[in-house]
Amino acid sequence: MSPTTTTTEVAIVGAGPAGLMLAHLLQRAGIDSIAIDIRDRAAIESTHRAGILEQDSVRLLVESGVSERVLRDGYRHAGIDLAFGGGGHRIDFEALVGASVQLYPQTDVFVDLADARARDGGDVRFGVGDVSVADLTTDRPLLRFTDADGVPNEVGARILVGADGSRSICRHEFPEARRRQFFREYPFAWFGILCEAPPSSEELIYSHSERGFALISQRTESLQRMYSQCDPAEDVADWSDDRIWEELQARVGANGYVLKEGPITSTTVLPFRSFVQEPMRHGNLVLAGDAAHTVPPTGAKGLNLALADVRVLAEELELHLAGDDGALDRYAERALRRVWRAQHFSYWMTTMLHRLPDASDFDVRRQVGELTSIVSSTAGSTYLAEGYTGWPS
Ligand SMILES: Cc1cc2nc3c(=O)[nH]c(=O)nc-3n(C[C@H](O)[C@H](O)[C@H](O)COP(=O)(O)OP(=O)(O)OC[C@H]3O[C@@H](n4cnc5c(N)ncnc54)[C@H](O)[C@@H]3O)c2cc1C
Repeated sequence: MSPTTTTTEVAIVGAGPAGLMLAHLLQRAGIDSIAIDIRDRAAIESTHRAGILEQDSVRLLVESGVSERVLRDGYRHAGIDLAFGGGGHRIDFEALVGASVQLYPQTDVFVDLADARARDGGDVRFGVGDVSVADLTTDRPLLRFTDADGVPNEVGARILVGADGSRSICRHEFPEARRRQFFREYPFAWFGILCEAPPSSEELIYSHSERGFALISQRTESLQRMYSQCDPAEDVADWSDDRIWEELQARVGANGYVLKEGPITSTTVLPFRSFVQEPMRHGNLVLAGDAAHTVPPTGAKGLNLALADVRVLAEELELHLAGDDGALDRYAERALRRVWRAQHFSYWMTTMLHRLPDASDFDVRRQVGELTSIVSSTAGSTYLAEGYTGWPS
């Protein structure tokens, strides 16, 4: 079958938060785009991931006309509890840096973005297959795919954007000699559960203990998300609900907390990885979001970085399409500055709070010393609050 051919200004591979937010911002600037995704809407909507939005992410969603629901249905959190050494210590973001974060699940961010695209007549194709990109260093790069009805498509664009997540095909199109990949693997993962229970705490609890890390987070008045540090090879089938609750209660109980329990509706093991690919531009292909970088989830930075990338990318693409030759490289430079700050913050939170499999008693006591320094110093607490709520653009 001969392909259906289309032209657009920007072709976007991946319709997650990065791809859809970019398409939305471009349309507001009068720039046409097409976004495609290998998954259908229902599959993306039911994948539970991030839950904490920095204040600039909230502002972007509201001020660009994507979501007012984020303010109405989200929960404002003005701090977190750091729990260690037998007790909890609140980091008061509001008092320290005059900022807060918003608890609003990524599934809802996606629904708002997809609804905004549908409302504004945006061209988004879900459930496509056979995706490939070509002619990246020419002035007419191509995106090829087979749509959900089995029809082959070829899109000629001025710019291609790889917003295709942590298993990106686009980043592999950068010639090996012209890319660098920076990795860190961690010898632990998170065992995540969703449970039907009332909140155990109004704000997130980051709990350090000799048994390992636990994070107590919320979703709604009746649904909660909790994580405990585990081996990356852990099999969720080995864990009964009773065993899961026993372990979570033991970890937070060491610091004086008691969790409200309820039926567990989902379990998952989430591996940890830090990754950056540089540069973020090759010819007329640019990367955004998880396609270019991933962080371990401890600092709640992944989704926020994806949104920060495309806010900058939309600005620079507008300049590029108007003839500014330096704009795409400037995007990569501006984005990477924030990416590496977030890499450091996520690494720091992760290594301060998790127990390494071969940790000695010295290592665990040293972590408690570090956490004590953070909570007993205005400078230390402010540093954490600034990073968590998000640095100014
Ligand atoms: C289980 C889990 C829990 C997480 N928890 C947190 C958290 O608590 N806090 C936080 O900040 N971050 C968290 N993250 C990270 C956060 O979800 C990501 O950083 C965020 O989704 C990045 O958005 P994105 O649009 O760049 O990528 P994605 O959301 O991954 O979107 C990429 C899209 O591209 C599509 N795609 C992939 N390949 C192709 C292809 N070849 N062609 C077309 N489309 C393609 C995918 O289907 C996907 O819809 C978590 C991630 C996971 C996996």
